[in-house]
Amino acid sequence: MPLKTRSEPIFFVDAMLGNIARKLRLLGYDSQYFSDIDDEKLINIARKEKRIIISKDEELIKKAKKLDMKSIYIKKEDEIEEFLEIINSINLKRIKINGNVARCTKCNSLTESVDKEIIKERITNGVLKSNEKFWICKHCNQIYWEGTHIKNLQEFVDKINERLQ
Ligand SMILES: [Zn+2]
Repeated sequence: MPLKTRSEPIFFVDAMLGNIARKLRLLGYDSQYFSDIDDEKLINIARKEKRIIISKDEELIKKAKKLDMKSIYIKKEDEIEEFLEIINSINLKRIKINGNVARCTKCNSLTESVDKEIIKERITNGVLKSNEKFWICKHCNQIYWEGTHIKNLQEFVDKINERLQ
């Protein structure tokens, strides 16, 4: 069995950056995210779990800095630019998609590969026919397949990697 967790930074993504949280999770990065959370609570959790705060909120970033916590201040608007700000601040060389390390976009838990026979009742025939690999979230039972997991993300990742070279 391949090792499923990455020994890479873990994040707390601020409420305004849901798309970033989703992408980080699909790429296998443990990324806490709540669509609605106050600064104090966010800081407490991030501090306890040693998560790097990712935010567009300058006030929150200032608070984190005061407490000597790691944070990434996102200033750009475009998603690719935002992602590059994150990658550059943690010195990642290259990002790679790997369905086997992806986390659930809904709850941030690990997913595991699942035989299509087991989950066939829960997905449409079209999806069943056009996909061989499926994953299931161990926590919320959400099902993923390559169409959602990988293909949609590939173009985005390619654009990022072009910029990293
Ligand atoms: Zn889940």
